[in-house]
Amino acid sequence: MKRNRILLICLFLSITASIIGSAAYSDKTNHTVFVPQYQGKQPKNIILLIGDGMGLTQISAGLYSNNNHLNLEQFPITGLIKTNAHKRLITDSGAAATSFACGCKTYNGAIGVNKNKKPCLSILEQASQNGLATGLIASSSITHATPASFIAHVPDRADMEGIAPFFLQTKLDLLIGGGLNYFRKRRSDAINLYQQMQDAGYQMGNYTENKLSSYKPAGDRPFAWFSADEEPESVGNGRDYLPLAAELAGPFLKKRSPKGFFLMLEGSQIDWACHKNNGPYAIQEMLDFDAAIGAILKFAVADGETLVIVTADHETGGMAIKQGSEMDSLIIGFSTEQHTATMVPVFAYGPGAEQFSGIYENTEIFFKMQALFGFPTTSTDPKK
Ligand SMILES: [Zn+2]
Repeated sequence: MKRNRILLICLFLSITASIIGSAAYSDKTNHTVFVPQYQGKQPKNIILLIGDGMGLTQISAGLYSNNNHLNLEQFPITGLIKTNAHKRLITDSGAAATSFACGCKTYNGAIGVNKNKKPCLSILEQASQNGLATGLIASSSITHATPASFIAHVPDRADMEGIAPFFLQTKLDLLIGGGLNYFRKRRSDAINLYQQMQDAGYQMGNYTENKLSSYKPAGDRPFAWFSADEEPESVGNGRDYLPLAAELAGPFLKKRSPKGFFLMLEGSQIDWACHKNNGPYAIQEMLDFDAAIGAILKFAVADGETLVIVTADHETGGMAIKQGSEMDSLIIGFSTEQHTATMVPVFAYGPGAEQFSGIYENTEIFFKMQALFGFPTTSTDPKK
């Protein structure tokens, strides 16, 4: 309890920077959004954590199942985002992640391309171009819609083979996730991207050789570890690497560049559980993601220069905690096997966190990160 209280005091003290004035810009979705101009401390590092399919009910169910406690509760700033895709009220993970990555609303199935299927420069690519270290971590394949949207540019999320070569075009410092087959085995073009990464200087590892916990990447070269041939197991079936990956990511990426880093980590399978209308699976994945959040938060509190943003791409399943539930025995219901249009929460901690309160479009996550990094504004003109 005492440790929690100290942490809360630290959190409170860290958000005392001033907000002066405001600037307006169009987010290209027919809204004019006012964003307070941040004139306090800027973050050196930004960590974006995405719980795929994580709405308020998924969070609540995780919380109640865990003695009424989540690491998420420690975030001082909360907001809500509107998740709609271009011309579709209900988004998929590709369109939503592209909104976070590039700041444009696009069609469902898009990976790092705008509504005209033209590539859009992502926050990760911009970070890399500016000399920052970069990382992508997921409990899905690394070529799956959410992580892919930060580095690849393909018109269709199903094109996993087409997505994989982009991981060599923008040299990531840290890659942890599934999808080994799209890099070396079973590629129709027989190109061995895994070998190419090794030749490019990566320390490579994968689940067939060793568990993630047995690697201690020193930071003198980039590191990639593949957790599965295709999609990783659920937590219930023994997957345990996401919190470990979260723990090693901050200190590792800090060593990779003196200029700072951008990391995106996804808790991918909350969504999959809710597509299956499986409450216990959703809760296990929620708690695994929250453990990763805890590890990231611990790093950020100690570091003092890291902004942590936690959000979701959309809610999945229309999940409900039903009448008759008790804290220790939840009765979970679902209203659909698909995604829903409900707004999803945003949590922020660290320098610039106050930018993330309020209700705004999912594209604003991109613009806020870009502004806080001090990167030049990129065009999100859909004609380009
Ligand atoms: Zn989904």
